[in-house]
Amino acid sequence: MPDATSALRLHVSGVVQGVGFRPFIHRLAARHRLGGWIRNTDADVEIAIEGDPAGLDGFIQALRGHVPPLVRIDHLQIDVAPREGLVDFTIGESATHGLPGQVVTPDIGICADCERELLDPHDRRYRYPFITCTNCGPRYSVIDSMPYDRERTSMRAFVQCPACCREYEDIGDRRYHSETNSCPACGPRLGYVDARGDLVACADPVAEAARALKSGAIVAVRGLGGFHLAVDAQCETAVARLRARKRRDGKPFAVLVRSLDAAEQVADLSAAERTWLAMAERPIVIAPRAQGSEIARSVSLDLGTIGVMLAYTPLHILLTEAVGRPVVLTSGNPSGLPLAASLAEALANLGDIADGYLTHDREIVARVDDSVVRLADAEPVILRRARGFAPLPLPLPVASPVALVAVGPHLKNTFTVATGGHAFVSPHIGDLDTLEAEEHWVATFSSLRRLFGIEPRVAARDLHPEYSSTRLAAVLPVERVLSVQHHHAHIAAVAAEHGVRGRVIGVAYDGTGYGTDGHTWGAEFLVADLTGYRRAGHLRYAPLPGADLAARTPWRAALGYQSLLEREGEPATFAFNGVERSTLEVVRRQIDRGVNCPLASSMGRLFDAAAAILGICLESRFEGEAAIRLETMADGKAGVALPFDTVETDEGVVLDPLPLLLALSEARRRGRDAADLAADFHQSIAVATARLAARFAEQEGLDQIALGGGVFQNARLLRTVVRDLERRGFAVLRPRQLPPNDGAISYGQAAIAAARLALDDG
Ligand code: ZN
Ligand code: ZN
Ligand code: FE
Repeated sequence: MPDATSALRLHVSGVVQGVGFRPFIHRLAARHRLGGWIRNTDADVEIAIEGDPAGLDGFIQALRGHVPPLVRIDHLQIDVAPREGLVDFTIGESATHGLPGQVVTPDIGICADCERELLDPHDRRYRYPFITCTNCGPRYSVIDSMPYDRERTSMRAFVQCPACCREYEDIGDRRYHSETNSCPACGPRLGYVDARGDLVACADPVAEAARALKSGAIVAVRGLGGFHLAVDAQCETAVARLRARKRRDGKPFAVLVRSLDAAEQVADLSAAERTWLAMAERPIVIAPRAQGSEIARSVSLDLGTIGVMLAYTPLHILLTEAVGRPVVLTSGNPSGLPLAASLAEALANLGDIADGYLTHDREIVARVDDSVVRLADAEPVILRRARGFAPLPLPLPVASPVALVAVGPHLKNTFTVATGGHAFVSPHIGDLDTLEAEEHWVATFSSLRRLFGIEPRVAARDLHPEYSSTRLAAVLPVERVLSVQHHHAHIAAVAAEHGVRGRVIGVAYDGTGYGTDGHTWGAEFLVADLTGYRRAGHLRYAPLPGADLAARTPWRAALGYQSLLEREGEPATFAFNGVERSTLEVVRRQIDRGVNCPLASSMGRLFDAAAAILGICLESRFEGEAAIRLETMADGKAGVALPFDTVETDEGVVLDPLPLLLALSEARRRGRDAADLAADFHQSIAVATARLAARFAEQEGLDQIALGGGVFQNARLLRTVVRDLERRGFAVLRPRQLPPNDGAISYGQAAIAAARLALDDG
């Protein structure tokens, strides 16, 4: 910095509203004896500072170094400015109207300061379940519209008492302009409601709920973004009852624990897993289950892993302390329905499940689920992006010339609204199988549109004509609807989150997506950029008897492959012990006649087929179970690649899995261990994938390879492919901020639509 400089003008963008940024800057200016002001502008926050050059230097260094925990500076522009003779530092009013594309802060777990006060008997907020400050607490789930002020949140119902007001107005206080500020005298209240819906007269609703949980009851707990269903995680009968009442067969539940120490009792945690558990976003982390843990077996059955999260609200801290052990915490919704948000909804939708309700009177404006993450080689694989992350924006590598909405896919739906270079991906919405789910989509869409002030003129949707999201796109008041191929969207999503707009080799491995040839795609090698793609290779097509039904019955996928073998003169090969002979006959005839039997190149179904052939999983009780079991089985085994080669055809390079499946089946028949073969299967897929991707990259002269699609939730496969490609000298783009699965599709659609629209304009 030149010596003469004594005044600067700064422009800061990122997460800078409602997170204590302005008082932080005010304190920083005071510490360095600088005058100036701070104000919100259309695009960012603008700061003027002037004074002693050494003070300016210190100010900038601090700004680049340690900002408050929730502040995220994406861009900092520093210009030299003329000196105006300012001595004091002042804070300008926040803009009086919401500006399009303003950043909305996600809900954040309780901070260390608030946690200390919560547990301090001398603090006026001792055991107050709604304690927050500018560094923590609810945001997105309570905000109606922007800018972020109390009257535009559900906290407007609670008028601050004089003590709270003093904190709110004191620039030196951690609660200066904390819009969620409240205390036992003026804030929201807890209540415990019994199964009949009657409020229970009691001094301490948390103690009441804890007593119920300890006696084996199912308690619905109103949290940040909706109700959860809770039971004692160490009580087998309680967990089994929850499974039965929720009609949830085998899908694992997550457990809530009080602290990292408690988490260690439940799971064997790596350093990266501990970091992710404790971060302010507080996601559910899927980790290896600890040997000898006291968690009921039926929480995660025999999967070998368990989902854990740390108590992230003051209420959760009080509850886990009162119960004294981990608590199962699962989404408060019967399958197919959105999370219950209000007590009335909980009573209506969870009445058959819950024995009691721990509730409160702070309205939930936006429903938001828990986020889920697992770690592969210390790198995160997001499985569900919601609380803590949504609705923070992601960049669009090519800015959109008009506001747009990308409606997303049918399963694991999210949608994305975008303006300019910012894409706002909704929190996880889920499968759009029911009318209620579609209504939830519509409601969330209108609330995000209002929140971000975005009026979409263009919609992007999947090519699939029958997705619910496709129908939703058709009725939106937009000028134009673009359709995007599913696997192109997978690859674009990965490229876009890495800011890549040029050509890459894309490997998209998932269950199913609509192909341009009318077949079902799901293992695609694309040469792609954001505007288009060429399908360079794919997995060999096999009949998929029962179409979507096959995803739940892995033996059907295997039977599809067997029919190809039979056509090539191989005798009926695979053993399906446990499936009725007559049922097999029916499906065989179905394949012969081609009834509801699409041709599919699906990697997800190939994993299913392998699991069925190895006798590991013939029926899946939840989505992806067969692949998860294969991965778990293979754990700790090295694995050797079996024959899995490419064939050149008129429609490109085709990976033929028949020799691989035959080899598995033969080896199993000879008595080789299924676990070893599961490892061999992973190794075979990984080696073939890396080899073929590398070959296309060399042909095209490209050095970036993007991996996308739900199959890459498999940490073992992801890790092996990444290492192999990196060893060959390629840069691997892997999903990091969004899930590999269909939760990323809407963002990919948005990136593609923006690039196409920009191309049209240019
Ligand atoms: Zn706090
Ligand atoms: Zn108060
Ligand atoms: Fe997909």
